[in-house]
Amino acid sequence: MFAFDLDIPAGADSVDVSLDFLLPPSSGEFSSGASATAQLVDLSWNEVVLYPKGTVAREIQYAATLHLPKGWKFGTALPVAHDKGDSVEFGPVTLETLVDSPVIAGAHFRTVELTPGARPPHFLHIVADSEAALELKPEDSKHFSHLTAETGALFGARHYRGYHFLLTLSDHVAHFGLEHHESSDDRMGEKFLTDEDLRKFGAGLLPHEMTHSWNGKYRRPAGLATPDFHQPMKGELLWVYEGLTDYLGHVLAARSGLWRNENFLQHLALDAARLDREPGRSWRPLADTTTAAQLLYLSRREGKAWRRGVDFYEEGDLIWLEADVLIRQQSKGKRSLDDFCKKFYGGQSGAPAVLPYTLDDVIAALNEVASYDWKTFFQKHVYETAPRAPLGGIENGGWRIAYTNTVPEMLKIEETEHKLTDMSFSLGLIVKEDGDILDVLPGSAADKAGIAPAMKLIAVNNRKWTAEFLRRAVGSTKTNSAPLELLVENEDYFVPCKFDYHEGEKYPILERVADKPDLLSAILKPLTK
Ligand SMILES: [Zn+2]
Repeated sequence: MFAFDLDIPAGADSVDVSLDFLLPPSSGEFSSGASATAQLVDLSWNEVVLYPKGTVAREIQYAATLHLPKGWKFGTALPVAHDKGDSVEFGPVTLETLVDSPVIAGAHFRTVELTPGARPPHFLHIVADSEAALELKPEDSKHFSHLTAETGALFGARHYRGYHFLLTLSDHVAHFGLEHHESSDDRMGEKFLTDEDLRKFGAGLLPHEMTHSWNGKYRRPAGLATPDFHQPMKGELLWVYEGLTDYLGHVLAARSGLWRNENFLQHLALDAARLDREPGRSWRPLADTTTAAQLLYLSRREGKAWRRGVDFYEEGDLIWLEADVLIRQQSKGKRSLDDFCKKFYGGQSGAPAVLPYTLDDVIAALNEVASYDWKTFFQKHVYETAPRAPLGGIENGGWRIAYTNTVPEMLKIEETEHKLTDMSFSLGLIVKEDGDILDVLPGSAADKAGIAPAMKLIAVNNRKWTAEFLRRAVGSTKTNSAPLELLVENEDYFVPCKFDYHEGEKYPILERVADKPDLLSAILKPLTK
């Protein structure tokens, strides 16, 4: 983002540069959000590095030194040359490897070796805002170890010398995951390992980010495999990069035991029902969300139903599930998407390498596993608009979306974590805990009643609103002949909104279709013991 033009005196053979980096405060998304507290820091080298213009990132060497507060410990995939306690000298690496190898450090830190004695080794480094947050239940430790075994069985080769999960647990840093070749920067709330609901909420994070070591880092869409940090990236194949990773991440969460199958199915039902009801799909094809990723990652939540968000994640899940089910049906259960993963992402184990690919390469590899018109399949699902979400994977996998009037466990956890009440499946609106209306589905009962995103909910049937009153009032629309009435505030004006809605509370779940084989359960079966 920043270039410095210097007049170098004749005869000078080096330039000394010093720079300041201001840590962002608590607000902000991804790595522009907070990355440090008084107890810990997550260091992304790209934020503190300068390099000569025009250099290919893998052709320039860096030897970094890091000074840490007294007593702090650290974790990283970077090779350590000298650990002097208060300062660490890292071995020389290329700029590409440096930027790909963040460091986490803090006062409360521990490292767990997940596969003792095995090569390559796998480490879980945890840094937290308290000592209590470092507690790792034996069963979770087993699940993380199982995850490494399952990725080995799925891909058949590993493209790293060692793998380091860099897990930050804090309520004061931005929560997200960022993939790297030999590590992942995984940030969750302080109670991730000690609160069962939060653990379930974030169970897909580590499997997702680890999958990226193969799908994203080793195999990378040609448009994203740039030689330096100047070239603009082309994100059109993000539905493979993120979409397939999202699918595999959820499958691996279930296969490794981090989720029960029930959690996977509930999560899938929510994603599928949301995408199926999202009216933005009528004008915006999925491919357009990939090329607009750099805008959509940071776009407002209000209006998402009509604008669409980074749907290549969740809709990618549905598309790759459908591909998996298709391969299983075509081959009468003999082959699956697992075979594609081994073929496309496996190869020879060893140090990190990048093998770019195009859509034609993906289609060719799929055809080697199961002969099918994959080109038309992706054309239809990715590049064209469709009024309905791709639900073929669920339906041909022996399940269907049904609606219940009780909040499913995974939705309850989501609502608690995001501090909102999701009535999008009934009224068509989502409310934050302070009453702010996050979004309204165009065409829904809420839309027809005159409610729009960014208004504020004040009262339900003339009583000051709470989530409980709202749910109860929606529930009684089935039997109550008087219309439901919500009072909303539109900036300085109060607006009473009457609803023509009589279907009660509605939340999506998946239901078995008895006469079809249950392929979803077959997909979730672990590959290792
Ligand atoms: Zn990802």
